[in-house]
Amino acid sequence: MDNRLTCSQIRSLRRCHFKHYLEYVLGIRPANQANYFRYGGVFHNALDFRANGRTIEQAIYNALLPYDDMMASDEVFIEKSILGSLLKAYFWRWQDMDNSMKIIASELPFNLPLINPHTGQEQGFSVAGKIDKIVQLEDGRLAVMEHKTTSDDLDPTSNYWKRLRIDLQISIYTLAAQSLGYPVEAVLYDVVRKPVTKPKQLTQGQTKHLLETGNYLAKLNGHELTIGSYSVDSQKEPLTVVVGDEFAEVTEGVKAISITETFNMFGDRVFADMCDRYDYFFARREIPRLESDINQTRLSLWQYAQMLTRCEKDNCWPMNDDGCVGFGTCSYFDLCTGGFDPFTDNYIPEGFVVVPDVHQELLN
Ligand code: SF4
Repeated sequence: MDNRLTCSQIRSLRRCHFKHYLEYVLGIRPANQANYFRYGGVFHNALDFRANGRTIEQAIYNALLPYDDMMASDEVFIEKSILGSLLKAYFWRWQDMDNSMKIIASELPFNLPLINPHTGQEQGFSVAGKIDKIVQLEDGRLAVMEHKTTSDDLDPTSNYWKRLRIDLQISIYTLAAQSLGYPVEAVLYDVVRKPVTKPKQLTQGQTKHLLETGNYLAKLNGHELTIGSYSVDSQKEPLTVVVGDEFAEVTEGVKAISITETFNMFGDRVFADMCDRYDYFFARREIPRLESDINQTRLSLWQYAQMLTRCEKDNCWPMNDDGCVGFGTCSYFDLCTGGFDPFTDNYIPEGFVVVPDVHQELLN
């Protein structure tokens, strides 16, 4: 077994020892998990490009390049449009605060020996991860900065923020930053709520306005707004509408036509919405970490390493049936309930792959 212990791995172990065995000992992963990592990976890459001196346009362009190598599909184009708009809105939202902070390190890897807190001895395990950023805040303090995308509610009173008071990952990152020689005093948690939307059909009135003026006038959050201006070309035989360089899908009504947003128009609407409701989509808050939290983290890491050692020694990874369907159905549910036995079965179930490196989160 890989002796590096990561936060994702600990989460897996906590949910179910058997899940950990499948994921981190055998490296069996759901084949569609790639999409999940792609979204976060692109977001983090853009922020890292920006931290390393690229302009906003270059950072977004470079981060989105992997989409050009993917098989073209609506799903891919929609995800690319959303991420491009999300990043543009993100840099717009935080430009003042970002200018007041100094980036000390970006995508900082760590792999620190795990110490027995009772004896001070190493145990063969290490704790590994990648800190998004070390920053110097406007008041001079150093902080760990953690970037996240989420589907959760970001209201200041929501449980999302309460839970962070005991979040293991930021405790580990604080411990790691201090061990690497950065005397961090805070964690700046930076979260973006993912927009959930698809291209929508314009009304006949909006379509007429677009054809006449080139302007996309939309109703957004209760008010009318010009979302974008485009060159528009339309013809009747055959019936086509080209907005910018994209053919729009046209629906014929009895008296008039309406089009569906092209991917560029869709992206412009997502951007306008994120800027219009920036408090809904973006949040940054300081999360305190006390010396007592860090000491508790050392003890917890030691206990997790002990658990792993014991499971590995006995080759026994108990299933936790309480973890199967709570907090979203476990991605291994069909595999476990379908009778797959990894100790005797000599095949990989359909819909799963074996990854060459179990710590995929450290690769990006
Ligand atoms: S489905 Fe249940 S038993 Fe199987 S790995 Fe997930 S949590 Fe464990």
